[in-house]
Amino acid sequence: MKVGYVYDPIYLKHDTGQHVENAKRLKAIISHLEKTGLKQQLIPIRPRAAAIEELSLVHDEQYISHIRDVAQKGGGWLDADTGVSADSYEAALYAAGGVIRATEAVMNGEVSSAFALVRPPGHHATYERAMGFCLFNNLAIATKCALANYKLERILIVDFDVHHGNGTQAAFYGNPRVLYISTHEYPFYPGTGSIEETGSGIAEGTTINIPLPAGGGDAEYLEVFEQIIVPAAIRFRPQLILVSAGYDSHWADELALMQVSVTGFAQMVKIIKGLGDELCDGRLVFSLEGGYNLRVLAASVKATFDMLLGNTTIEDPLGQSPRRLEAPNITLLIKKIKEIHNLA
Ligand SMILES: [Zn+2]
Repeated sequence: MKVGYVYDPIYLKHDTGQHVENAKRLKAIISHLEKTGLKQQLIPIRPRAAAIEELSLVHDEQYISHIRDVAQKGGGWLDADTGVSADSYEAALYAAGGVIRATEAVMNGEVSSAFALVRPPGHHATYERAMGFCLFNNLAIATKCALANYKLERILIVDFDVHHGNGTQAAFYGNPRVLYISTHEYPFYPGTGSIEETGSGIAEGTTINIPLPAGGGDAEYLEVFEQIIVPAAIRFRPQLILVSAGYDSHWADELALMQVSVTGFAQMVKIIKGLGDELCDGRLVFSLEGGYNLRVLAASVKATFDMLLGNTTIEDPLGQSPRRLEAPNITLLIKKIKEIHNLA
């Protein structure tokens, strides 16, 4: 079982100062993978800078130039919570190129699965707008490249970040070759991701939103994986699965109000790996999105790799949620989503 990872110190040079999305996140992950000896079990994949033509598959060319110009002038804030520093443009090119390279390595058989440990993150970035800490939509760009370069007909994207991946949804809203499934806290930033958003035109039904009430934890997430994500994935028969892996639904993450544990993340990854093995020769590409508690992030990324490697045990140093919020009842929500998407 060859599992690859993408990392490069260029990702640390996207300097956001005291912002929650900062270089310490990747440093914590890498140092934990080194300390635990897990890094030696992984195959390093060198990222490259994405080409403008690749970025343009998802973004407006003027927008791409704008990010470059802001960086060249030393940086600035593009919105209230999305910053650019002098080296951010280059880091962002390598973040997109990192996920592209991870996808190529999986498609070419260099590795069976891979996790791109990149920043800035990507899933909020839209055609012409940076938002939610994201500049370029790394995973959407890699998905479009894979569709074009490997002539794939069906790619599944699973986005389990606590926020809705509005940029990714928009990139494929009218594209029936990509099934986008998102679990997210709702209502919450960025405001999109209701059950009624299901895709448009010939792509009707290829966006599946699972908006979860605050307080949801391992049990609720596993229920929606089993009842919605698994049957929808089996019906779609993807040839490749990409995952927007955000760990900000953990109970100790301060950005949101969900109650997932590290063990819960590992169980979700195990289900996704099962789908990959069953449906597309294990071809999985993970891309790092959110997750702002450094201990949680390090332990969760390690647990993700453990699951991809087929290791049977994981470490969950933080344990289960102290349950500050009552678990919501999601029975009706699941029933509605199944009706909308004709899932038995
Ligand atoms: Zn997030």
